[in-house]
Amino acid sequence: AEDVGTPPARALEARDIDKDALKVVRKLLAANHEAYLVGGCVRDLYLNRKPKDFDVATSARPEQIRRVFRNSRIIGRRFKLAHVFFGSKIIETSTFRTNPKEEEHAATSEGDAAAEGGGGGDLLITHDNSWGDIKDDARRRDFTINGLFYDIERRAIVDFVDGVRDLDRGIIRTIGEPEVRFREDPVRMIRAIKFAARLDFTVEMDSWQALLRCAPDIARCSRARLVEELYKLLRGGSSRRAFELMIQAELFQHIWPDYIALYDASGGLHRPSRKDPPDLPSALFWRYLAALDDYVLETGQTPSNGVIQAILFAPLLHGQLLEANRAELDALIEDTMTPPCAALGVARRDRELARQIYMAHRRMIQPRGGKRSRRKNSLVQRQYFHDALLFLGFSVETREFDGDSALEHWRRLALQSAAPAPKSNGE
Ligand code: ATP
Ligand code: MG
Repeated sequence: AEDVGTPPARALEARDIDKDALKVVRKLLAANHEAYLVGGCVRDLYLNRKPKDFDVATSARPEQIRRVFRNSRIIGRRFKLAHVFFGSKIIETSTFRTNPKEEEHAATSEGDAAAEGGGGGDLLITHDNSWGDIKDDARRRDFTINGLFYDIERRAIVDFVDGVRDLDRGIIRTIGEPEVRFREDPVRMIRAIKFAARLDFTVEMDSWQALLRCAPDIARCSRARLVEELYKLLRGGSSRRAFELMIQAELFQHIWPDYIALYDASGGLHRPSRKDPPDLPSALFWRYLAALDDYVLETGQTPSNGVIQAILFAPLLHGQLLEANRAELDALIEDTMTPPCAALGVARRDRELARQIYMAHRRMIQPRGGKRSRRKNSLVQRQYFHDALLFLGFSVETREFDGDSALEHWRRLALQSAAPAPKSNGE
């Protein structure tokens, strides 16, 4: 490339870079392709955070990447890229590409972008495989802080989008016109909030204003993608801040209206306030998220989707979780969870696991002893026992009911039984 911008002096710590990612870049360079680390890993290394994964961007086409690495596979239809395998680790390696709507933007007026379906002025991206150069590849990315490349030979960040400046200032800013970028892919609104919450950054004003205007567009995304994004947010360690922002922006209201509606009878799901009575469902919701975040940050574990669903609906089941008898609780869970989960497309198994967690929770907090104790011990053998124990920890912490001795009891039993550690359903 003729103009690669002025690289900032700062090199990233070589020892923090994944060795296999370096291997991928080196081999592509050796085969005369351009290749860089890109996106989230560059952002995180610059901020001295541990990257979740390492991605590579290259001038090589998918078939060329495939030829350089025997241990690779081309995946995706809408967005073709190569996975290079190292054991169970995958280095995502994608070809430089442009924003497929770039040319159309010039031709179309942006005013009536809210039009439904595939009509004129519709910015929603439906295909994603037009190749480009590194500069195009920077500009098709979502936020300036995610648009950075790392050149391992020159040991320099390559920055076409002023991303380093925004990293230094703690700002989330879309690359290009925010409203256009949000209409192209409304999930970017959730991502903006995810990064703001996780990195404790501020969404830049124009991007935030556009987000407020575009929030209803989120309903156009596939439900599967929304569910996945919600799980990511909830498992990310900053879910409380992220949901505050999503509710403030009225984004969550458009993502899952059927869930929000469940709070209507008790004054709505609103931002936390000191004046809320402690057992108000809305207040419980925020305390559960805080407990979830503490757990994720302290242990680095990712709770299962079942635990996450159990947390989401616990504020609504409320005292019934403690008091209802078996049949009542079962019916209440069914009535409360099924309609909203069906509306969003939550997997049945996630909902079923949440139900098992609640039922186990009910047994765990009952006074011990007598003829029940043998049956209760068998709980430890259940597949969902570790999830139920985890949820018990959250519910004790959140509700401030006197469950400490129950929690201690079951934790002791968990240690005694040689049950294997819980399997997290990571990504
Ligand atoms: P995380 O740490 O959560 O993985 P990330 O920035 O790596 O954050 P990914 O979803 O792994 O996010 O995506 C990798 C990169 O791909 C991003 O950094 C960004 O450059 C680009 N990207 C991802 N999703 C989008 C999107 N919806 N629109 C534009 N670019 C995107
Ligand atoms: Mg990533």
